[in-house]
Amino acid sequence: MNVAPACETPLERRLAAELERLRAAQLYRRRRQVGGSHGAQIVVEGRLCTNFCSNDYLGLAADPRLAAAAASALERCGTGSGAAALVSGYNVEHARLEEELADFVGRPRALLFSSGWAANLGVLRALLGRNDSLIADELNHASLIDGGRLSGARYVRVGHCDLEGFERALAEAGPPNPEKRKLLVTDAVFSMDGDLADLPRLAELAQRHGAALMVDDAHGFGVLGAHGRGSLELFFSSPEARGPSPEVYVATLGKSLGCAGAFVAGSETLIEYLIQRARTWVFSTAPPPALAAAARVALRILQAEPERRERLFENVRRFRHGAEQLGIPLGCPESSVSHPQPRVLTPIQPLILGAPERALEFARWLYERGLWVAAIRPPTVPAGTARLRITLSAAHQRAQIDRLLEALAEGLKVLPGSRFPVSASERSSRSRNRKLAAAH
Ligand SMILES: *Cc1c(COP(=O)(O)O)cnc(C)c1O
Repeated sequence: MNVAPACETPLERRLAAELERLRAAQLYRRRRQVGGSHGAQIVVEGRLCTNFCSNDYLGLAADPRLAAAAASALERCGTGSGAAALVSGYNVEHARLEEELADFVGRPRALLFSSGWAANLGVLRALLGRNDSLIADELNHASLIDGGRLSGARYVRVGHCDLEGFERALAEAGPPNPEKRKLLVTDAVFSMDGDLADLPRLAELAQRHGAALMVDDAHGFGVLGAHGRGSLELFFSSPEARGPSPEVYVATLGKSLGCAGAFVAGSETLIEYLIQRARTWVFSTAPPPALAAAARVALRILQAEPERRERLFENVRRFRHGAEQLGIPLGCPESSVSHPQPRVLTPIQPLILGAPERALEFARWLYERGLWVAAIRPPTVPAGTARLRITLSAAHQRAQIDRLLEALAEGLKVLPGSRFPVSASERSSRSRNRKLAAAH
């Protein structure tokens, strides 16, 4: 089929101007093709690289046992589920996976979504309406922001990990009232900084003010807690932790589980309600049964091979120790200053570089040395905090981590302007932006 090229329409002209603006600001993005599998060693545009920017924390994405489980399910079930789960798309593989996920995180039930994005949009839109308030950390994932907007609820953006800000917003939203729901929502592990929300205190705040707490554990599930059950295990499983815990739990299957999709876990009532009302679930084709089969095997491996998490955290400690020795300034200065939570290690270790062109140049320089670390720029992160978002995996070898450390130290020396993470002027304009945003 031949489609005539569109002549320059008003829409085309507007889009082209916007693209030009992105190019000029060094914010233009493009994809890089990976040949073959997406493990710790990947071929990026023909170059063999060690991958330091994937969320495949346990090295399961390229595990042949997951592929074998998917292949066997493909034989039995074919490729497509053919319809939404309420119509004819609900397979026994989906049902088993939901039961196993609910058991694993210690909640009565779970509901499988096709992505974390769909889960967050579906849940927020289902739980909130125009009379309600959503109180959200300013560094929450984009899907939580969009879900909040879509719900029509009053959106209250609170400073990063600012517990007093959460408390103030809860008080301002008025006394408990079934006609005016209040929902606190936060990432458990912040995806670009790798720091943690103080979930026990947020849960306690929520309870005290008659609000519910929803947690997005995309980067904690499979990684945190003594058995990898995620942030719920880390914060709420000890005998001393007798306080309230989050009512709505979301985690994804595309990160530590090496598959794709997501689930919401919670009470019987919550899940039944979402089955009736979560539009991104009701009106969306159920994921391929083979994907659920692969995720079930991933969940089993996660439990049978705790050494993966041990290796992951050994790698994180090695990387952080090496960075300290070499004077590589890891971490987000702001979040570590204001952060009430004692430092829990996570696999996300950012190196903040400030201006987008610095991050781009550094990433290109690393790529030439066979090290693949994507530059993360606004709007994914706040202006002035473009960074290398370095992630560690259980699949990394010690020598690979050491090579990255050496290259980072050298890059900070030889690449102009990279020595000082965020300049004073950038920082003050950032806090100005933040005040402006808070005033709106
Ligand atoms: C990746 C991510 C999502 C989106 O999940 P997908 O399954 O990739 O759509 C949601 N929330 C957070 C915190 C994430 O990091």
